[in-house]
Amino acid sequence: SAASLGHSVIPIVNKLQDIFAQLGSQSTIELPQVAVVGSQSSGKSSVLEALVGRDFLPRGSEICTRRPLVLQLLQTKRKPDGTEEEYGEFLHLPGKRFYDFSEIRREIHAETEREAGGNKGVSDKQIRLKIFSPNVLDITLVDLPGITKVPVGDQPSDIEARIRTMIMSYIRTPSCLILAVTAANSDLANSDALQIAGNADPDGHRTIGVITKLDIMDRGTDARNLLLGKVIPLRLGYVGVVNRSQEDIMLNRSIKDALVAEEKFFRSRPVYNGLADRCGVPQLAKKLNQILVQHIKAVLPGLKSRISSTLVSVAKEHASYGEITESKACLITSAVQTTLAGQGALLLNILSKYSEAFSS
Ligand code: GDP
Ligand code: MG
Repeated sequence: SAASLGHSVIPIVNKLQDIFAQLGSQSTIELPQVAVVGSQSSGKSSVLEALVGRDFLPRGSEICTRRPLVLQLLQTKRKPDGTEEEYGEFLHLPGKRFYDFSEIRREIHAETEREAGGNKGVSDKQIRLKIFSPNVLDITLVDLPGITKVPVGDQPSDIEARIRTMIMSYIRTPSCLILAVTAANSDLANSDALQIAGNADPDGHRTIGVITKLDIMDRGTDARNLLLGKVIPLRLGYVGVVNRSQEDIMLNRSIKDALVAEEKFFRSRPVYNGLADRCGVPQLAKKLNQILVQHIKAVLPGLKSRISSTLVSVAKEHASYGEITESKACLITSAVQTTLAGQGALLLNILSKYSEAFSS
């Protein structure tokens, strides 16, 4: 399952991100994140939820995701007695732990309305949520509003352009991995997801194609050629998934049951024989983790030097406040650099251990 993939390098990166947030310069560093893009109702939130393995995101046949949700998953240790504790915490409600995941969904909904109103309005102001659990991959995921064409409710006439700009602001970051979600019952050649991902990542180095709704394709059709990349090739390939239908949501079907049903779906259809590595949410999780590790290895040197220069400029800024003299500023700078060198060494150490484990 997704949870058995073990440790990854992301906790270290998240830690660096927290250090940056404390320094008040969060936006100066571009860390690897995973963002979902696609048309409205293509199944983006469903895919994220399945990856997390918990029910907590607003989903549905109308527009549900109306603000970017930055979701930081943090793997915690299982307690010695074997019991596990999973909870969420919002940036806008510091210190409040949500153990009931349906309450998390209600809070996302309420916080969406607080900023974007009750009538389908969309806002680019983030909701930030951390989820602590022994059962998650350490990853930061971003759930984004889907692309829509026709304004409804309080949406402005240029809603499509606005949403595209918002999505691009996340996925044009060279370190952002893109899950380009397209429903199998729509035409891949018309895919908003592949189109916008192609704009942000023309070489396809960081785009994974996700095909949802394999269960409700037109009778007599299947997704074999899509998954094989024969329709639109994609460097990192495609994974096909079956998430819960609207009826399943209304019947409160659990995510566990849905995963079992998904496995059964693929097993019972000969057309997907031999495509096991391209079918199912667990495969998507595996693929993501492998790509993330490669990716972090590649961006690490640049990351380190950016952290270094930001810390130096923070120290200088402090110095310019006046009470701190030039020599004190030098002291701060060198202290910061020492800390940093230690952290960089730690990072590299962990990375090389991890890549050893990964390749064996
Ligand atoms: P988003 O707007 O892209 O975030 O899409 P949602 O995740 O909110 O899903 C939109 C609707 O499609 C919901 O009613 C889901 O239950 C349904 N849905 C998503 N994935 C699948 C799937 O694989 N199969 C079926 N049958 N329905 C799905
Ligand atoms: Mg959504």
